[in-house]
Amino acid sequence: MKAIVVHECGGPEQMRFEEAPMPSVGTGQARVKLSYSGVNFIDIYFRMGLYKADLPMIVGQEACGVVESLGEGVTEVAVGDRVAYAGPRGSYAEYAVVPAWQLVKVPAGVTDALAAAAMLQGMTAHYLTHSTFPLQQGQTCLVHAAAGGAGQCIVQMAKRRGARVIATVGTEAKAELAREAGADEVILYDQVDFAAETRRLTEGKGVDVVYDSVGASTFVKSIDSLKPRGMMVSFGNASGPVAAVEPLLLSAKGSLFLTRPTLAHHVATREELLWRAGDVLSWIANGDLRLRVHKTYALSEAREAQEDLASRKTTGKLLLAV
Ligand code: NDP
Repeated sequence: MKAIVVHECGGPEQMRFEEAPMPSVGTGQARVKLSYSGVNFIDIYFRMGLYKADLPMIVGQEACGVVESLGEGVTEVAVGDRVAYAGPRGSYAEYAVVPAWQLVKVPAGVTDALAAAAMLQGMTAHYLTHSTFPLQQGQTCLVHAAAGGAGQCIVQMAKRRGARVIATVGTEAKAELAREAGADEVILYDQVDFAAETRRLTEGKGVDVVYDSVGASTFVKSIDSLKPRGMMVSFGNASGPVAAVEPLLLSAKGSLFLTRPTLAHHVATREELLWRAGDVLSWIANGDLRLRVHKTYALSEAREAQEDLASRKTTGKLLLAV
């Protein structure tokens, strides 16, 4: 099969479009013939070597496709089912072998492209707004990179839960998209001190929670944007990983909470996976969650897709048509 294989971690040039062995199914696994793979920032971290994996590796952790064969003992899906998943690595490829319990059947009202687009960023937005800091009516959140794939989902889900959303984005065009997603206020954080502006917008109080996927360049000011006993949710490193933090900082800034969550721990059981994926896919089917696909690339163009994502010029989801 054709796949994007990384033999050595490094720059985008390390991604080679080549022939790879067809993966064989084991007990409890399903082989899926993929139609679309999602492109996510986590794929860049693995390709760079910031997150570690055995080499060679096929990057990509999100896809939609059709179950083509099953290993022994599979009960969750059948051959011919249209399925989607997020988590297991190897989706920049024509086929992937996935533990069957991690596959979710795609409802009729959701296209393959949208199912592939929804799983990783959609379920991330779900756990952030429903579990990490379950937003309530009347609370205020600060969402960075709000026109991005994860960002647009977080804004929509935060509004759905009745929260006020202050969003940050890099450009005026992105500000428009953040507003369309439902943001109440939008700050151009490259031009304006977003901590000072957040204080101004909250009458000096600060926000209940910051959802920060940008990392190194925003961390300190995100902390400065919180109200006493607020929660700092650092869930990404788009600008680089956050430096070490002294616990005393959290005391000095108002008895703050700090967490560094990841999706895998929030879809660790079939029950939790079906809850989050069920919500996300049904909201897409009934129009309550709108996903914006920035661009669909050919599998062989994965390098260009990752370069675009890292260069801050994309908005919404990037897909590979397999
Ligand atoms: P996005 O579509 O959000 O793209 C990244 C965006 O980050 C850019 O468009 C840009 O928006 C902003 N950004 C700010 N500074 C930089 C920089 N120096 N380099 C690149 N981008 C920058 O990507 P994703 O939705 O795929 O992912 C967003 C983040 O969420 C990533 O950090 C990712 O790791 C994280 N994530 C974490 C998960 C978890 O469970 N922990 C799961 C899913 C995603 P702007 O121009 O507006 O600043």
